[in-house]
Order: sequence, then structure tokens, then C-alpha cells
Amino acid sequence: MIMPAIKCKCGNKISFGEIPSYNELLIISDVDFDKYEGKIDAEELYKNMKSVLHCNKCNRWWFFKDGFDNKPICYVREDD
Ligand SMILES: [Zn+2]
Repeated sequence: MIMPAIKCKCGNKISFGEIPSYNELLIISDVDFDKYEGKIDAEELYKNMKSVLHCNKCNRWWFFKDGFDNKPICYVREDD
């Protein structure tokens, strides 16, 4: 089985096929989360979350705003 992965700009391969995925954050907007109340169905919530993959080599973040079928937005850490 081939794990889904993206190639980071630094050359690192970030895989996200594992369950759970250690390179992945799941986020949801406060507006979307606010539509839930009481006890939440985890599967239902999962479908409405967006993925952000972390590169543990260069610390870039890849935000899949529109799902894995569309181009992610890349964020680079800005040191102070
Ligand atoms: Zn990287």
C-alpha cells in the first residue's frame, strides 16, 4: 500500500496516510463548529474539518483549505 504523501519545498516527504496521522492537524472554523451542539458524532465532525500537514524538517505548514484534491497553501514560520 502506498501512503499518500506530499513533497515539501525542503524536499521532505510528508505522509498522511497513517491513522492517526502524526503529521496532521485537523481544524474547523468557529462558525462551522458552532453548528454543533450537545454530544458530537466524531465521524460527522471529521468530515467538516480541514487538514494541515506539518513538515518536521523545516516547520512549514501545508493547509488544505479545499481538501486534498486542491492545491494547499504553504505557511513558513517567521522567526522573531
Ligand atoms: Zn519541509
